[in-house]
Amino acid sequence: MEPKDSNCIFCKILAGEIPSAKVYESDTCVAFLDIAPVNQGHVLVLPKGHYPTLMDIPVELGGNLMDALSRVGRAVMEATGADGLNLMQNNHEAAGQMVHHVHFHLIPRHSEDGLKLWPQSSYDNPDEMNRLTEAISGLLK
Ligand code: AMP
Ligand code: ZN
Repeated sequence: MEPKDSNCIFCKILAGEIPSAKVYESDTCVAFLDIAPVNQGHVLVLPKGHYPTLMDIPVELGGNLMDALSRVGRAVMEATGADGLNLMQNNHEAAGQMVHHVHFHLIPRHSEDGLKLWPQSSYDNPDEMNRLTEAISGLLK
């Protein structure tokens, strides 16, 4: 039995309590149009189970999700005549997550759409880069 959250807007969509513009469904995943698209044809892909963030998704779902992203991504590009596609995914409010049921944004892109991705910075010194390399890799041993 997949986890559900009765207060979650995406669980309500999955339960048929709120309408959605559904474009794809498999045993484990669903995709529908984002109601406030960055570009026309912006789709959200999500697991049917209520997992709050990327880090909560059971590893067995990974293949299904990747398959859904790839299929839906191809269809979004073709249907919108896009030149490119962004995959965006926000975790926790500090990163812009508004709906706490993990979901992946597929955003069709056009060469002249003028959208800018986030600005990048740099490391002030190699020590800081080394410290973070050790800190992150140390947690993965
Ligand atoms: P995030 O900020 O990554 O949590 O994205 C949540 C996304 O869900 C936003 O882009 C919203 O426009 C979208 N959204 C919220 N409610 C609905 C809804 N009822 N149907 C479709 N998309 C929705
Ligand atoms: Zn949910």
